[in-house]
Order: sequence, then structure tokens, then C-alpha cells
Amino acid sequence: MSLNEATLRDALRSVNDPEIGKDLVTLNMVGAIAIDGDSVSVVIDLTTPACPLKGKIQGDVTEALQNVGAGEVSIEWGVQMAGQMNGQTSLLPNVKYVIAVGAGKGGVGKSTIAVNLAAGLVRSGAKVGLLDADIYGPSIPTMLGITAKPQAGADRKIIPIQAHGMKVMSMGSFVEADAALVWRGPMLNNSLKQFFGDVRWGDLDYLVIDLPPGTGDVPLSVAQLVTVGAAVIVTTPQDVAVADVVRAKTMFDTLKIPVAGLIENMAGFVPEGGGESIPLFGSGGGAKAAEKLDVPLLGSLPIDARLSVQGDEGTPMVLADPDSDLALSLLALAQNIAGRLSVLALGRAANSQAGGIQVERS
Ligand code: ADP
Repeated sequence: MSLNEATLRDALRSVNDPEIGKDLVTLNMVGAIAIDGDSVSVVIDLTTPACPLKGKIQGDVTEALQNVGAGEVSIEWGVQMAGQMNGQTSLLPNVKYVIAVGAGKGGVGKSTIAVNLAAGLVRSGAKVGLLDADIYGPSIPTMLGITAKPQAGADRKIIPIQAHGMKVMSMGSFVEADAALVWRGPMLNNSLKQFFGDVRWGDLDYLVIDLPPGTGDVPLSVAQLVTVGAAVIVTTPQDVAVADVVRAKTMFDTLKIPVAGLIENMAGFVPEGGGESIPLFGSGGGAKAAEKLDVPLLGSLPIDARLSVQGDEGTPMVLADPDSDLALSLLALAQNIAGRLSVLALGRAANSQAGGIQVERS
């Protein structure tokens, strides 16, 4: 029996995207199919470049095609087009997803998570940018070992710094911390606009934004200027931090930025040399907060000196010691977030008739 494309395409209706729970044909994920004898090659366009379940999809596609007579199956991976799923605004036309990393208060490890999230997405094969919008305490350049200042190109656009496979811009490179404190509404809005539109970000799968802690003007401006695919909120397990986190969630709700979930940081302490985690600040705070806010707990990280040492030395942990348990859990966290983003983008696409985000300045 010779193979034909219609049969093969039809067979892929039995394969579901494990994250989204709909089949690949319905999700427009099946591209060109080429048949050579009984060998089949098929293009599968993922909804998110750092898809954590690529291996599962590969196995399921191969099995489904072999069930209808295919021999050798090869898969070429693609990614759905920018704007196809997320309705990005004109300031960032070539960026597929914007991810905001927020926290109710400072010092909970928000920037540490942001750099490791960005680096984890790089490690998963995605094109990544990182914007340090924490103007009051910019720490991303140190955490990535960046000392150079960004330069302008001939077209007067700013060329982001390349570090660890990602493009990086820090607003702190342009403002003194004291001056940043007096930045308010319109001034911030203008400078953020430049950081989106006048920086040569190029094609990106993900732009990760490290927001300042709390609920100030920066998140408001970000929401007005670009479409944020999802926010993640970093918290520590203490009760005080849980109260802060409720405020952060309320802010994202008001800005109509979907919250992908909560990341609990500094949950317990693993002594040097390993062993049981000791719950220094109590335990279960992250799970409690996630339940209260009705969002998933995306991951929980212990206090681990390697995270701060690598931060000071300028290499994200997820890249510095890539096979360590800690790096692998950071990588899983990044892929988990990437997976949640595509689910949220699908919901956004379904609701797109409802129009873009309009945020009133109060
Ligand atoms: P934030 O951005 O919330 O202000 P940072 O990411 O700058 O917080 O982290 C504050 C300090 O805590 C940094 O010195 C950082 O290296 C350290 N840190 C963050 N997370 C951890 C962790 N899980 N274990 C140990 N140190 C951490």
C-alpha cells in the first residue's frame, strides 16, 4: 500500500499536544509532509520553542504515522509565527512572547530567577532577550558578568549586549539609581517605549522582563506598551511575603496580564554537601499562596549558596553547572513556564475578538 499525505495528516488527529490537550491538526501544528517510499518527514510547528514535551510529541507522532504504514519517520521542528498566537504590538513585532518576572517585595530572588529563566530558555534552544527593568536595583549586568555599555548602531538603534547566548539590556546602564527613584509615569513610559522600540532585539522567541519589586509604574507602562504573554511571581515562604504576593497578583489582574504561576524561592536550606532540606522560613508558604491566588506553583527552590555565588561570578547557575540537580530544576522551571505560556496564548487567541489590552492610567 503506498502512503498518501491525506492519510498521514489524518493520522495526526490522534496525537494531542500534551500541554494543551487538543490534537496537532486542530492546533495548526502540522506543516509540510514529505513521502519517499515508506519514509516520511513531517514539519511540526511547536506553540512554544522551549516546549518541554517535545520528546513525547515526537514519540506519539512517530507511532501514529507508523500505525498507518510509515516506515522511518523524521520530524523537523518549527515554531508558530510571531504574532500568530500572542497578538504582539508594533513595538516588538518580531518577539513571540514577553514574560514578566515580578515580586511583591525586593530581595526574594526575582532577578536570580529571571536570569536563570532566560538562560534556561536559551538552553532549550530558544532565541532570548532579557530586559532589566528593575531601575531601582538593577542587578542583571552583574549576574551576567556584563561590564560593557550598549552602543548605538548607524541607524541610531541601540545594540543589546550579548551574554550567555541572550541579548541583554539594563535600564540601570542609563540611569543612576538615585535619579531612577524620581522617575514617574510619563517619563518611565517614554523610556520603556525606547527600550522596546529603539533596541535592536531582532527576532526573539522570548523577551524576559525583570520588573522592579512591588506595584509601581513600570508594570503599568509595560502593560500599556506591549502584550505580556504571562507574568510569574517570585515569593519566599514567609507569611509577610505571602501578603505581598497577593498585592502583586491583584496588580497583574488589574493590568490584564495573565499570571502563569508562582515560584517559591528560598524554601528551605540544603547544607553544603547535600542532605535533607531544612525549612528555615517555615514550609508550604508557596503552596498556600498559590492555592489562595488560584494559580499553579511552578516550582520551589531551596536556599543554595551556588545560586548567589554564580550570580556574583556572572554566569547563571542553569549554565554554570548544567548537569547539577539545581541547574536541572531551574531548566525544568523554565520549560514549565514556556509550556504554560503556550496554553495561555491559546486562550488569548480564542479571546482575541475581545480586543487588545487597554489600561487606564489612574
Ligand atoms: P531580587 O531581585 O528579588 O531583589 P535577587 O535575585 O537580587 O533578588 O537576590 C537577592 C540575593 O539573594 C542575591 O544575592 C542572590 O544571589 C541571593 N539569592 C537569590 N535566590 C537565592 C537562593 N535560592 N539561594 C541562595 N541565594 C539566593
